[in-house]
Amino acid sequence: AKRQGRNTWQWYRDREVASIKDSVLLRHDLHTALHEEQFELYYQPLVETTSGRVCGVEALVRWHHPSRGLISPYEFISLAERTGQIIPLGRWVLRQACLEMARFRTQEERILPVAVNISSLQFHRDGFLDEVRRILEETGLPPNQLELEVTESVFLDGASQVIDMMETLKAIGVRVAIDDFGTGFSSLSYLRDLPTHKVKLDRSFISDTLSDHRSAAIVQGVITMAHHMEMMVVAEGIETEAQQQDMVRRHCDLLQGYRFARPMPLAELRSLPERLPAK
Ligand code: C2E
Ligand code: CA
Ligand code: CA
Ligand code: CA
Repeated sequence: AKRQGRNTWQWYRDREVASIKDSVLLRHDLHTALHEEQFELYYQPLVETTSGRVCGVEALVRWHHPSRGLISPYEFISLAERTGQIIPLGRWVLRQACLEMARFRTQEERILPVAVNISSLQFHRDGFLDEVRRILEETGLPPNQLELEVTESVFLDGASQVIDMMETLKAIGVRVAIDDFGTGFSSLSYLRDLPTHKVKLDRSFISDTLSDHRSAAIVQGVITMAHHMEMMVVAEGIETEAQQQDMVRRHCDLLQGYRFARPMPLAELRSLPERLPAK
């Protein structure tokens, strides 16, 4: 047993060394990737719970690595945050989403608001608000078609400043949603003071509500509370009919997940029907 323990330890060490080497390589590649347009935005629809009507999309970045193929943002976003490369990458994402969605029409000529994920580092960088204004101006996207998604971690670095920035964004017409709600530590007290219209319940709660009555209680609590504050609630990661029905029953406003549509390239988004009945 001892011996096996050592092997396990060695295995972890090898993995660790490999993953450090990996991240050095990736860091270098990330730099090149920005210059060589290896990134692409995919878009995932959000639907109204009651009607199935598509009411917006979330932009999700994809990296087509020349030798490794498609790399998930779970692998490179946190790395880019550690190296600071999230700043140019985040700027590219915001500009690209605005550029693409400014011209986008569905086959019924509808326009769709777009939500863009903003890293806390990016949000707190001096000049972020000017950058948003400039990008809107240059791309011609109407501010009310843009939504920013920030996680609760953004509040760790000065909640009152964040609230001021959210007020400014609201004044120019850009909305801010709280992403991964419930996974941070700050939820309840901040919710009171936030000029937000929307919270997104993290997928981890959604997958648990059917089996764990505590998760269910949190989900129901957030929905009830948000509605009292005139906020909408999005349930992320809806995969099954049971999960969908559960959210219908709990009066969750919007749904997002593979059950309706996976994130897709812009070209596919065009042929999206007005309503997305669950598969
Ligand atoms: P997120 O913002 O919470 O985005 C939702 C993630 O859940 C996406 O993963 C999406 O593809 C995935 N998803 C959607 N529906 C389902 C479902 O039914 N089942 C399952 N299992 N997954 C589902 P993705 O695209 O891999 O992105 C992962 C995370 O990376 C995002 O989580 C976000 O935190 C970050 N990210 C992605 N794009 C960007 C970006 O442009 N900027 C920043 N700062 N972060 C990004
Ligand atoms: Ca998000
Ligand atoms: Ca999320
Ligand atoms: Ca998440």
